[in-house]
Amino acid sequence: MSRVAVVGAGPAGIYAAEHLSTVHGYQVDVFDALPVPFGLVRYGVAPDHFSIRSVRDKLTDTFESPLVRFRGNVHIGTDVSTAELASWYDAVMYTYGASADRALGIPGEVSPASIPATEFVKWYTGHPDAQDFGELLRTSEQVIVIGLGNVAVDVTRLLVKSIVELRATDMPDHVLDSFEKSAVRHVHVVGRRGPQHATFTTKELKELGELEGVEVILDPRDLPADDAIASSGSKVVERNLKVMRQWSQGHGESHGEVLNASSKKIEFHFYSTPQSFDSKQRSLIVERMQLSSDNTVMGTGTYESIPADIVIRSVGYRGLPLEGLPFNDRMNVIPSHEGKVEGLSETYVAGWIKRGPSGIIGTNKKDAVASVESLATDLNERHSVAIDSQEIDEILHARGVKYIDFEGWKRINAAEIALGASKDRARTTIHEREKLIEIGLS
Ligand code: NAP
Repeated sequence: MSRVAVVGAGPAGIYAAEHLSTVHGYQVDVFDALPVPFGLVRYGVAPDHFSIRSVRDKLTDTFESPLVRFRGNVHIGTDVSTAELASWYDAVMYTYGASADRALGIPGEVSPASIPATEFVKWYTGHPDAQDFGELLRTSEQVIVIGLGNVAVDVTRLLVKSIVELRATDMPDHVLDSFEKSAVRHVHVVGRRGPQHATFTTKELKELGELEGVEVILDPRDLPADDAIASSGSKVVERNLKVMRQWSQGHGESHGEVLNASSKKIEFHFYSTPQSFDSKQRSLIVERMQLSSDNTVMGTGTYESIPADIVIRSVGYRGLPLEGLPFNDRMNVIPSHEGKVEGLSETYVAGWIKRGPSGIIGTNKKDAVASVESLATDLNERHSVAIDSQEIDEILHARGVKYIDFEGWKRINAAEIALGASKDRARTTIHEREKLIEIGLS
């Protein structure tokens, strides 16, 4: 029986493992550097998006298969090299995503008060490597979120959401406590282009207008004169514009209630390109842009200052290279053709490290299946040369690599549910790596 290694236990990796095992009958080992599976479903999807996070239950089913093993807390690149993996398995599929942030390249960007959204998301989801932003939230009233994508919308929403609603999530206790003590009153969402160019989706956008005690402000002059023309046939854009037009008309009211001076605010600043951040002056300087006839934007030479105790840069995720694999550093992906890595045999990619950080979770299923089909076409022509699964575990043991298997994950899962129950919550994420490993190995 052929044996395949999958590197990355996020949605792309698990969908790949599912297809490799159920359709092709291969044995699959899914490695992850973290002690727990699920990648961005656990450490990316906002904790208050319960239905999206519940994809985890479906993904869990894959690990119940006797053909699929989880090997968490194993870092490919340090604990095991890519060359070793290639020699141990019949094929390897890399699905390790895009974990880094993209830089803006503006003065003042590197400052303790200027945070990549990727890091902020890690913190509120309880990623073991996250920095702690609790103190910043306790001392900041005005926050700027740069970017008009769904991550910017997630970050904005969570910054002003009521603590009662946040308590229903599985955020770690220290994060919940920080949101409870947060001084944030006003979130400025800054985009370099117009409402019709935003990449957020309507469901996510609409939620901002449904938050209790939150006023949404946008300048009606930023909305295009004709939504149908501006949307260029995109239904999402058309629906987004409809939502924003309603907001611009129903100023001062949200969720059916009349807002007062104590209301929190979300304010959109479209056509505003960040130029510099001054953390001492607590301001972000933006250049006002204007729309050209060809639907692009250009600078007007007019500058504005937006108050900012913190700037959260939500301008996209970025894939990182892995030693032994080729890398396209313009696109930040592993170069491939039909899922097969360029220049290497029996090596494949799927997910964000293949196509870049775009799409919803379901996009990864189609993407992973396509790559698996490519792999299967090549593999079915050969006899297995893989080493035994037991032998792989023995090598890991001999190297002192404390891997977490699926039974270990089940123990962590039970511990998180028990921790939540102790505080009347459905679940509480455990964020300390050592604790996760200790429970996983117990
Ligand atoms: P994204 O949708 O690509 O948005 C990135 C934003 O950053 C865009 O508004 C972009 O503006 C802006 N940007 C890039 N460079 C900039 C610069 N130098 N200056 C100013 N703005 C800049 O990425 P994302 O929000 O990180 O989301 C990643 C993927 O995850 C997306 O596919 C998203 O839909 C998905 N996601 C989905 C959900 C959900 O379904 N609920 C939640 C979170 C994430 P331009 O357009 O002008 O380049």
